[in-house]
Amino acid sequence: MKQYLKCIRCGRVYPLHDTRFRCDCGGLLEVRYSHFPGPSIVDTWEKRTGSREPLDQSGVWRYREFLIRSSNPVTYPEGRTNLYKLGVDGFENLYVKHEGENPTGSFKDRGMTVGITHAKDLGMKAVACASTGNTSASMAAYAARAGIKAFVFLPSGRIAAGKLAQAVAYGATIFEVMGDFDDAMNMVVKVSKELGIYLLNSLNPVRLEGQKTIVIDTLHQLDWEIPDWIILPGGNLGNTSAFGKALMELKEAGIITKVPRLATIQALGAAPFFRSFVNGFKTFQPVKAETVATAIRIGNPVNFEKAKAGIQFTKGIVEAVTDREILDAKRILDRSGIGCEPASAASLAGVLKLYKMGVIKGYERIVLILTGNLLKDPEIVPKVHDVRSIRVSSRFEDIRGILKEVIP
Ligand SMILES: *Cc1c(COP(=O)(O)O)cnc(C)c1O
Repeated sequence: MKQYLKCIRCGRVYPLHDTRFRCDCGGLLEVRYSHFPGPSIVDTWEKRTGSREPLDQSGVWRYREFLIRSSNPVTYPEGRTNLYKLGVDGFENLYVKHEGENPTGSFKDRGMTVGITHAKDLGMKAVACASTGNTSASMAAYAARAGIKAFVFLPSGRIAAGKLAQAVAYGATIFEVMGDFDDAMNMVVKVSKELGIYLLNSLNPVRLEGQKTIVIDTLHQLDWEIPDWIILPGGNLGNTSAFGKALMELKEAGIITKVPRLATIQALGAAPFFRSFVNGFKTFQPVKAETVATAIRIGNPVNFEKAKAGIQFTKGIVEAVTDREILDAKRILDRSGIGCEPASAASLAGVLKLYKMGVIKGYERIVLILTGNLLKDPEIVPKVHDVRSIRVSSRFEDIRGILKEVIP
């Protein structure tokens, strides 16, 4: 057996085509491979960056040796996201990987291309997810491309406008659940199990495989010079899990020898992972989540166990930041010309806090993951920035007079 599902708790193995996400023992399942290629695969990956083949152009499928096999992937291609150097006082080597540059504007596309491909290969006619917005936007788009029916479950009235617009436009059937994300999540798990609908939340181990490529692609862009830190926001903790797994597998394959430390940043009002970390991961207590960063407003992250393994493997840390710190960081990122949605700014807020605490040094090489695009959440913009438009008549002299005063 070349690829299979394995329980991270008891080690029991299931075939890859099994649509279960949890073991009989209750543990989470992950995808396992019997074999990875050796370090010379990076030359193949480099050659693919110049190829015109859609699978090579995809910043996900380009790294297909670390993904499930499929004869016919559903791809845009996605994952062609830039790595920018960010100038912030005190930091010499701060980079941002802008996953908001994906086709539907968030990193969720990286998981979804693999998840929808697998759904199609399994012959599924319908897919479903609970979502704080970006998963539904991504799933609706990929389902439309694949000709599969999409059902999304959203917490009523708590979705950023851009995300809801996408789910509507791409033709998903939308259920607004009277409750929060965690209620919607419980609902969709039951519904999809009972009705044979394929679930595409990050509880789905196949989706997380695609998200591993955020790390692989970033290290490739850094020419395999391994950074000291990779910093990311944490909600349902799918990315923290996927990043940890990617690093374990790259190390196992001998492609990397040094491992960057992961720092997962939560919003203080939605920080059960942080509270558990502080406690040495001895206990885990779900919370009632509240934060302006809607994408990480999650009180009971389903991937806790996997994310814990990722933090432990990388000697990583978990930190929490206030909504004010998140919005201040968003202002910096927006004004740098890059921009992002609030949840993504938690990563910069986190690094600024960890720098002040002396945990992260200014000379270290740091990569921040920006998870979602600025346009996802237009309503927050006036709360972050002074609205700068100037009302004028259409008379040339009036406008000239004003401009003369404000031109530097
Ligand atoms: C989904 C999402 C997150 C949270 O990621 P997890 O993998 O659930 O921790 C963070 N930011 C944005 C923009 C997202 O869409």
